[in-house]
Amino acid sequence: MSSSSSQVSKGNILIVDDTPANLELLNTILTRAGYDVCVAVDGTTGLEGARYGQPDLILLDIMMPGMNGYDVCRHLKKDDTTRHIPVIFISALDDALDKVRAFTVGGTDYISKPFQFKEVLARVQNQLTIRDLQQQLRDRNARLQQEIHDRTVAEAEVRQLNEQLEQRVAQRTAELESANRKLEREILERKRAQEQLMYMALHDALTGLPNRVLLMEQLDKALELTRTSPTYKFAVLFIDCDRFKVVNDSLGHLAGDRLLSLISHRLELCLRPVDTLFRLGGDEFTILLDNIDSIDDAIATAETIQAQLMSPFHVDGHEVFIGASIGIVLGTAAYERSEHVLRDADAAMYCAKDLGKGRYRVFDTGMHVRAVNFLQLETDLRRALEREEFRVHYQPIVDLRSGKIAGFEALVRWLHPERGLVSPVRFIPAAEETGLIVPIGAWVLRQACSQLHEWHQRFPHARHLTIAVNISVKQFAQTDLLEQIDLILEETKLNGKFLKLEITESTIVGNYKAAKAILEELRNRRIQLSIDDFGTGYSSLSHLHRLPVDMLKIDRSFVDPIDDDSDEREIVQAIVTLAHSLNMTVIAEGVETAVHVAQLRTLGCEFGQGYYFSKPLDCEGCTETIANNPQW
Ligand code: C2E
Ligand code: MG
Ligand code: MG
Repeated sequence: MSSSSSQVSKGNILIVDDTPANLELLNTILTRAGYDVCVAVDGTTGLEGARYGQPDLILLDIMMPGMNGYDVCRHLKKDDTTRHIPVIFISALDDALDKVRAFTVGGTDYISKPFQFKEVLARVQNQLTIRDLQQQLRDRNARLQQEIHDRTVAEAEVRQLNEQLEQRVAQRTAELESANRKLEREILERKRAQEQLMYMALHDALTGLPNRVLLMEQLDKALELTRTSPTYKFAVLFIDCDRFKVVNDSLGHLAGDRLLSLISHRLELCLRPVDTLFRLGGDEFTILLDNIDSIDDAIATAETIQAQLMSPFHVDGHEVFIGASIGIVLGTAAYERSEHVLRDADAAMYCAKDLGKGRYRVFDTGMHVRAVNFLQLETDLRRALEREEFRVHYQPIVDLRSGKIAGFEALVRWLHPERGLVSPVRFIPAAEETGLIVPIGAWVLRQACSQLHEWHQRFPHARHLTIAVNISVKQFAQTDLLEQIDLILEETKLNGKFLKLEITESTIVGNYKAAKAILEELRNRRIQLSIDDFGTGYSSLSHLHRLPVDMLKIDRSFVDPIDDDSDEREIVQAIVTLAHSLNMTVIAEGVETAVHVAQLRTLGCEFGQGYYFSKPLDCEGCTETIANNPQW
């Protein structure tokens, strides 16, 4: 195989022919025409040349020794690397049958010998053009295929993106819907919470009754009505439970709460449908009586309420009696502000309380004075402490068996610069409320201890006398109570065994553990302990027997009626028996008659205190009594 080249090639042409002359001739023609030419002299070499040279066109002789042109062409067309190369057969044989055969085996054209130069060039050129066109077609086809492929891929991508988008939209919609639902729920909850807050702001949590805020609102409306319709009247009842504090202190707050609910139910029974019951707080209730004819309607309601509250309540297995003091005020156009209506109802209630418990009072203008006075009291009490206006009086406590004085109870008084001697019942409640009882009580204790020590020093026959001092709940609750007592005993030089402290049942109950610890500390100092006003609280007997208490002081209310064969006599008997069984002694308060003394002696009561023996005496009076009785 040989090749010749020219500078600008129009294409590579492989000539396969066994006749050297033919090869020579065709080579010359084609080289001149600008083709690169390779030649092969037999079929086998030709096939190889085609495979490795990859010519643009093959001129293939048919009649060759060994493998003829048809076979060569068949091989070419079978081989993937050569199948595309156009083949032009060259032959001297010029009959139709051979030509057909030539096309059948894959030839593309046919040139007859002897060669016409122009024909050879034209056919070669033709085939190359066809080949080029075919190539272009194939390229375009390939591009189209690629394009179709690209488009299909792009479409698939678009479809996938679309699907993803739809999914995202669906997901987002679901999220939004859920967020929406959550928001709606939250709004609903917030609305509910707000309603609840609103309700709580306007109602009392314990009883569910409307509270002060609602009362003021309704009072405003009622006052408005008095202005627009001259015949309209309303009334306000201010109700304060008389013995609630005792129950609360002695049975505990839970029992107190239950009792308040029970009271509110009973009060509701006394109302007409147009009336409203409010709880102001603590044991205070108010009723707004709407559209009444006269004050008599309000009085009738107050009486109904007091009748309703007469029968006992049952709380935690206890039978509890509760009275109520009621202040009544008539609402008319004369009132400018609702606060004033309430203020006057409150003042009337306090006057009712002053009359004794379980009363009602209709407001009159004189009552203002009292309300203002009460406010003044706190200021006055502070000043009284500063100016040392308090005094201690001493009431003898008598041993009923021997008739001799065993000691005294120290009772505070207020020597008011204008009002004279003021009873403790007038100012102790206010002192308790304001906490002033703490310094006042400490002052009394110091005074009493110091006084007794002085008597002990001065009168040898009085060295056995003891002094009883009242200690209020507030004083008892001080953390440094023991230190205070120690200091006072040290400073006044009084031996603790001559001191008796009087506490009430409410000090212990509900506060049992702490109370017990303090009482034990007091006993360690040999200070004696009495329970004052015994029988009026609700102390638990099961607790009582474990407390280091030395004495029970029977309340005056049980002692006074023991003349006859009353229930009280049995109560006193029961208390005495109880006290003795607990190794305690008994003092009777309010001993006023010889009959009292006789009865108490028969009942086994050891001590007595009361006007029958002596009223509380001032310091001088008491010193005189001691001096005059050297036989003690
Ligand atoms: P209390 O401790 O039960 O004292 C007995 C009260 O009964 C005294 O009233 C006394 O004067 C009065 N009394 C004594 N014998 C009779 C009698 O035969 N008939 C009548 N009707 N009454 C009698 P007072 O002095 O007015 O004291 C009243 C209450 O004030 C005391 O009751 C006590 O609870 C309290 N109190 C008095 N002084 C003090 C004190 O220094 N501290 C504390 N925390 N409370 C005190
Ligand atoms: Mg007392
Ligand atoms: Mg008492």
